[in-house]
Amino acid sequence: MTMLNVHSIFKSIQGEGQLIGMPMIFIRLSGCPLRCTWCDSAEARDSKGETMNIDQIVEKVRKSAISAVCLTGGEPLAQRESISLMNRLVDLGLLVQLETSGALPIEEVPCSEKVMISMDIKCPSSGMDNRMKFTNIELLSPFDQIKFVVQDERDYQYAKQIISKYEPKCPVIMTPVGGIDLKFLAEKVLRDRLGVRVLPQLHKIIWGEEPNQ
Ligand code: SF4
Repeated sequence: MTMLNVHSIFKSIQGEGQLIGMPMIFIRLSGCPLRCTWCDSAEARDSKGETMNIDQIVEKVRKSAISAVCLTGGEPLAQRESISLMNRLVDLGLLVQLETSGALPIEEVPCSEKVMISMDIKCPSSGMDNRMKFTNIELLSPFDQIKFVVQDERDYQYAKQIISKYEPKCPVIMTPVGGIDLKFLAEKVLRDRLGVRVLPQLHKIIWGEEPNQ
């Protein structure tokens, strides 16, 4: 039977990216091969979590009566069974948003208009920029999104360089580390007429650093 290590399953508001503000049920899987310096999911990253099969997870999602699911972590793609879980959720007619770090291949993610990939590209301040798999970028559709979490000028210049080099066909989001202090990013993006969206982490505005799971 297909089993996954699950840190938590909870209802919340999507705090990031294009679907910001949308009520979702979050499936937060345990484990991640990266160690971002500013990781805000360290508990899920480092814990083994509860072992659950797909039927048990789907039952919890069904009970929530919410039609959009965010599969997050940790790094969901670090568990091969996450692909089977996404296929099952899509078969149930649910909208699935996959949050992934950009370090693992996305080829096997179900190709469906019901699956939106939200892929990070880690900037130098994360310490993980050398772990990115840039060949993923050309696999993203216009329905997907790329997210840069930016801490400083060096990160911003790095993000600009990656956008110029790979010309992603999906929307690009820039968010400050910490999720709230947007002014420096907004001013840089306006100055450079960069075609990206500057967004906060809405859940941090609503709940602060308090974990909402
Ligand atoms: S990819 Fe996400 S979960 Fe993994 S270390 Fe980085 S911020 Fe934390």
